[in-house]
Amino acid sequence: MRATSRLAFTLASIGLGACGDNRYETPPYFAWTDPPSAVGAYSIDGLDPSDAAMLEKIDLAAELNEVVLFYGHNPPIGVSYETIDALLGRAKTLGLSALSFAELASGPPRAGICLSFDDTEVDAWYALEPILARHGAHVSFFVTRYAQFTDNERAKLHALYANHHSIEAHGVNHAYANEYIPQYGLQAYIDYEVLPSIQILRDDGFAPVAYAHPGGAHTRELNDALAEHIEFVRGISGRPK
Ligand SMILES: [Zn+2]
Repeated sequence: MRATSRLAFTLASIGLGACGDNRYETPPYFAWTDPPSAVGAYSIDGLDPSDAAMLEKIDLAAELNEVVLFYGHNPPIGVSYETIDALLGRAKTLGLSALSFAELASGPPRAGICLSFDDTEVDAWYALEPILARHGAHVSFFVTRYAQFTDNERAKLHALYANHHSIEAHGVNHAYANEYIPQYGLQAYIDYEVLPSIQILRDDGFAPVAYAHPGGAHTRELNDALAEHIEFVRGISGRPK
């Protein structure tokens, strides 16, 4: 029964991965009994707060005692406050925790949702904190172009980190693996795009455990190679259906 959500997702996704970058390959579920190192995440950008498919995925996670993953951008422009509130509210009603990637790494095992926000919009993330706090939610922020962050943006990121949210890596320049690797090679992508984006966060006092592929673009070879460097890689899985 435990493999049901992942198997069903994989079967439903066959055909979507044919674009060559495998961005739909990894299911957006995390099972504690057989923890995957590569996960996907459902997009909640632009979804209505009452989106039935989104809410059903949370019910399924409760039923299977798994974690279902979601991600969005730049609230409230990419994803509305109402939708974030509805997602976290549904989880809370079912007794599910909203877990950061650090908590996927550490446990303890429990059913939950794992919500992340990607890219650079620290002010928007910081403004979200009252909603997150009201739900007792821990989320993850996948940061790209950290070298360009201002002192003020870095301070806000540290404040979020102090409130038990995860600060995770999302590339030096948000370069897409499916464009970069054919041109410069896998090793160059890892050495210049991935690893420095993890290291700059470690150097600034964060403890990243995950890397999210920019644009979701990745290959199996990239995931295999990154397993030596970071506990989890996160792709994208389209909208909940
Ligand atoms: Zn991104």
